[in-house]
Amino acid sequence: MPAPYTGGCQCGQVRYELTGEPIRLIACHCTECQRQSGSAFGMSMLVRQDDLKISGVTKSFVRVADSGNENTAVFCPDCGVRIHNTPHYLDGVLTLKPGTLDDTSWLKPTAMVWTKSGQGWVPTPEGMKDIEGQP
Ligand SMILES: [Zn+2]
Ligand SMILES: [Zn+2]
Repeated sequence: MPAPYTGGCQCGQVRYELTGEPIRLIACHCTECQRQSGSAFGMSMLVRQDDLKISGVTKSFVRVADSGNENTAVFCPDCGVRIHNTPHYLDGVLTLKPGTLDDTSWLKPTAMVWTKSGQGWVPTPEGMKDIEGQP
């Protein structure tokens, strides 16, 4: 499916358009992604900052990862849905939370990462890279 892609938060206050193709998609099983998603894993889609046009009001906070890297988390202040993270160590790149896309049927991660902290019941699909820790 070619760009543009549209998406938004759960209450509809924040909407966005992704005007370019994503760079990469991974499923992350680290404990922070489990906490953030309230689920078994998080998905991170690397996109070019210039390709993401956001409308609506967002709020953000900065989190320092174990590695010492800072990551700004951007979310809807009304419903709390995370839209993207901004990893400060990657220039011009954002990690979009792809579950917020209007159509998620075409998504297919290329790798599962941090599987050593995974919940154990989620197997790595055939043909997908399995990386135990930091990619
Ligand atoms: Zn919202
Ligand atoms: Zn993670």
